[in-house]
Amino acid sequence: MFAGHYAAAFAGRAAGPMVPLWVLFIAVQFVDFIWAGFILAGIETAQIVPGFAQASNLDLSFMPYTHSFVGSLVWSVVFAGGYVLLARPQDPWLAALVTGGAVFSHWLADLLVHLPDLPIVFGEPKVGFGLWRSLLWSQVLEVGLLIAGTLWYVRVTEPKGFLGKAAPWILLAILLGMQTISHLPAEEYPSIEGFAVQALLAFTVLVVAAAFVDATRRAR
Ligand SMILES: [Zn+2]
Repeated sequence: MFAGHYAAAFAGRAAGPMVPLWVLFIAVQFVDFIWAGFILAGIETAQIVPGFAQASNLDLSFMPYTHSFVGSLVWSVVFAGGYVLLARPQDPWLAALVTGGAVFSHWLADLLVHLPDLPIVFGEPKVGFGLWRSLLWSQVLEVGLLIAGTLWYVRVTEPKGFLGKAAPWILLAILLGMQTISHLPAEEYPSIEGFAVQALLAFTVLVVAAAFVDATRRAR
């Protein structure tokens, strides 16, 4: 899953104690940031297999450290603890719940679409409800989640000026554009390392975009 993860970031910002949107944009992809790093370092393994599932070319053969149930819980605690220590929010428990929840939402969202490649701890059993087998339904889910999250964020915040009115919709358009491009059939596919670098770039661009959007709006 790609764009659908950001639904949880918008929801967290809407529900949360003023945790910045850009922090939540890191949180919801935190395990994929680390996954991409671990792929480049050779710690976890995956292969690009065109047509592996209708909506995914990734054969995610070994990723227990980032994408196991237990691993995701650990990363959630690490991120929440790090955020509370560095940002010293007014309500640390609520901030920890929102940031940790945002990190863990990644595993829950992946669970819906992945083929059974998500370990509980290490090795078997692996889980995944496999919605990626259907291009149509996986995209209905992801895009639906993303639009619902964006609408919630727009409802609970208000624009500071003209830019603030347009900014969330521009971000939504960028996300939908990236989502579309990543699912178009290609003549040639990158290596898994190339894919990891592309993913890191995309995630980073979106964090910067989220910081910009959030700067143009305030809580209602
Ligand atoms: Zn993931």
